[in-house]
Amino acid sequence: MKTIAIINMKGGCAKTTTAVNMAYILAKEYDKKVLLIDNDKQGNLSKACGVWSYENPSLADMLTGQEEIGGVVQVVEKMPNMAVIPANMHLLTANLAVIKDEEREQATIISKELEKVKEIFDYCIIDCPPDINVSVINALVAADEVIIPIKIDGYAFDGMDELEEQINNAKALNPKLKFRGCLVTMYYNRDVCRQGEAWLQNQRYPVFKTHIRRTEKADEVTFTNESLMEYSPRSGAARDYKTFVKEYLEG
Ligand code: ADP
Ligand code: MG
Repeated sequence: MKTIAIINMKGGCAKTTTAVNMAYILAKEYDKKVLLIDNDKQGNLSKACGVWSYENPSLADMLTGQEEIGGVVQVVEKMPNMAVIPANMHLLTANLAVIKDEEREQATIISKELEKVKEIFDYCIIDCPPDINVSVINALVAADEVIIPIKIDGYAFDGMDELEEQINNAKALNPKLKFRGCLVTMYYNRDVCRQGEAWLQNQRYPVFKTHIRRTEKADEVTFTNESLMEYSPRSGAARDYKTFVKEYLEG
């Protein structure tokens, strides 16, 4: 199983959209078994996969040791190859509980649980919040690779240095961790995006060649509990996500 953390300190840069569509494409087009982990208390990924609930076991229960991974994984009915560990607001208190419990190894909870399912899934994709907290550090310690979605604007690169520092810190516990690349999202053909993308390509960070075009379908789909791939497979963004996954697999 390969584990990918989708992360950026900024909100609204298409982390969740990238996680959902990447998972869907790997499952549907490549016949891979994919486990998605919602690591954001907002639960957007859980909602997109139709498994959000306030009562059912979630990532919070796994982090606090209340449940093993088998007790929190939910199957996605419409997609037999996909499963989700959902999240909800309980993740907030779970994060605090993990920090307080100094008896436990705090940063390796997710990686130890993932060990138990590594023969079942081909990929695990962890959708992180716009923040660094103990469950995000868990994601970095569990991951093989990090992908950073970036929406080009004046603040796009804020927090990149801090994020890189966290990735480097996680390498102490997880030497295999690789910064796989930045993915430009919500791209449109204007100077601001062209120049921002060119600037990014000249930095020391790896950048995927494919960018994801802006499409209004992305907002519509948030009302439907679907991925873009299902809701609007012919939209520019859906097609770009397919190209991106191909590039990812070839790279
Ligand atoms: P994050 O998880 O980083 O906060 P989301 O994936 O939730 O970001 O996306 C933030 C908002 O941007 C959502 O309203 C989503 O519909 C929209 N969005 C995502 N991708 C695109 C795109 N390619 N084009 C236009 N809007 C997009
Ligand atoms: Mg999100």
